[in-house]
Amino acid sequence: MVTDTHQDHRSDFFQEVVSDTPGGEQLAHCLQCGSCGGSCPNGSDMQYTPRTIFAMINAGRREEVLAANTMWYCVSCYFCTTRCPQQIPITDLMYALKRLAIAEGKAKDTDAPALARTFTGFVENFGRSFEFGLASRYYLLNKPLSMFKLVPMGMGLFTRGRLHLLPNRIRQMDQLRAIIKKAREIGGAS
Ligand code: SF4
Ligand code: SF4
Repeated sequence: MVTDTHQDHRSDFFQEVVSDTPGGEQLAHCLQCGSCGGSCPNGSDMQYTPRTIFAMINAGRREEVLAANTMWYCVSCYFCTTRCPQQIPITDLMYALKRLAIAEGKAKDTDAPALARTFTGFVENFGRSFEFGLASRYYLLNKPLSMFKLVPMGMGLFTRGRLHLLPNRIRQMDQLRAIIKKAREIGGAS
């Protein structure tokens, strides 16, 4: 039987990350060429570029990787993924790191998990995002004092008809809920 000895020395953390990412096993073929970090619009704000993060994953530096800001600065533009010479699903690996960081309570210096929870709550109830509700609920729950700073912008959007005060539910919500339920079953979420 032929075995992939190339992967045998990989860290447990490496296996954990790639097994949570469709096509993630391709990370074993990273050349450390740096095209990903060089392509990234937010690379200069990241503690570690994607190339460096992948080297750290390979070395099993779990705590440092999950505490890093790298994945939270990823805006899912997929530019790195399209340029990677090894077809590594870089953006999807960033999502895997986000999920792991959230699951382990390591996502402390970012508002992204709270914002994502608020967003998905509206999608599950109305089938689409609701900007006014998203902003007001998020700020009330997370940054109540900062909410007042947004009033002038909100008024401007409202007077131009760009901000609706009530959510608008899509038709056939039952179908969307069935899709979400199935996706959660496949993903192993409750
Ligand atoms: S572009 Fe691809 S091969 Fe190059 S360092 Fe990034 S992930 Fe590795
Ligand atoms: S998908 Fe994320 S990591 Fe890749 S280039 Fe865009 S922001 Fe950077």
